[in-house]
Amino acid sequence: ATWEKRVRSSAKVRSPNGVSVLVTGAAGFVGTHVSAALKRRGDGVLGLDNFNDYYDPSLKRARQDLLERTGVFIVEGDINDAALLKKLFEVVPFTHVMHLAAQAGVRYAMENPGSYVHSNIAGFVNLLEVCKFVNPQPAIVWASSSSVYGLNSKVPFSERDRTDQPASLYAATKKAGEEIAHTYNHIYGLSLTGLRFFTVYGPWGRPDMAYFFFTKDILKGKSINIFEAANHGTVARDFTFIDDIVRGCLGALDTAEKSTGSGGKKKGPAQLRVFNLGNTSPVPVMKLVSILERLLKVKAKRNIMKLPRNGDVQFTHANISFAQRELGYKPTTDLQSGLKKFVRWYLNYYSVGKKAAE
Ligand code: NAD
Repeated sequence: ATWEKRVRSSAKVRSPNGVSVLVTGAAGFVGTHVSAALKRRGDGVLGLDNFNDYYDPSLKRARQDLLERTGVFIVEGDINDAALLKKLFEVVPFTHVMHLAAQAGVRYAMENPGSYVHSNIAGFVNLLEVCKFVNPQPAIVWASSSSVYGLNSKVPFSERDRTDQPASLYAATKKAGEEIAHTYNHIYGLSLTGLRFFTVYGPWGRPDMAYFFFTKDILKGKSINIFEAANHGTVARDFTFIDDIVRGCLGALDTAEKSTGSGGKKKGPAQLRVFNLGNTSPVPVMKLVSILERLLKVKAKRNIMKLPRNGDVQFTHANISFAQRELGYKPTTDLQSGLKKFVRWYLNYYSVGKKAAE
């Protein structure tokens, strides 16, 4: 395969500090930032992504170009391809896997449920099946989601709170991922760390997320649908800036203990952890819109709708004390300053004024 030549012929994925990370979903929003950060600090990094068209694939290609320029190569392939994964581990002795590939999005699950099962359940199992036979086994850090808290309304959410009421198939598959991780840790001694991200936003973000398409529609003068709770409560999200999330991901990799199994056999107890990575500061969606209006200097046309809307939860708020203690995680970016960076990127990327965003 062409990737094999590229990987073999370069020392790019081997690092002097002995850490080499396979990043799945590397052409995704979080994957791009995490890969770049690992590279910057001198770790070996190889990406894997299937470049699916859930959202504009040209944005994924642009992120790939950005990573290529920093020396990170992305292999094009699917996490369900066991032969490819085995080959990757043969060519590069990865010490860690940062597993970010997934079918994201809450509402798309009603249109294409199979893609959630394929990537978030079957794909995750396939990855773990391959990892369990690798000798020595890599430590795995994977993306779970705040959506596992579902209809739980006791906030802030802490890791021990109930997660048995998912509000969407997306949430159900993320919850399933946590259960699957438990079994692979238990039976095969794989070291597994799950990160429950809370509404991540920032430059190179995902066009299917509200802050992104609000920006696009406000600039176009199109009205935006804002959902309010039928019970008069606030609809709010614990928006977390990408740079904070990246620091949390690196903290999780750095504190991950080695697996205790090898060759599909367990030796002793290995680490299994799940952390909230949020901002601990929920912001009403109304407030998000007014911040965007100010930054874009354009008035939004608001179209107020009533929740419940299938799949959405009303309120998210992370308790992060566990991640703070164990990973040294400490978010530092408020929504106003984070959105300022997003808007600057957006205007520049889409050359607004010259060519309108598609
Ligand atoms: P993203 O969609 O931008 O990135 C995911 C990447 O994985 C995409 O580039 C996609 O092409 C790739 N991918 C999907 N299925 C694949 C497969 N079967 N094989 C190979 N590649 C595949 O999403 P993101 O926002 O960067 O999210 C990263 C992770 O974090 C995901 O697991 C997501 O569920 C989770 N998460 C994100 C948020 C958020 O707010 N962004 C919140 C909670 C959890």
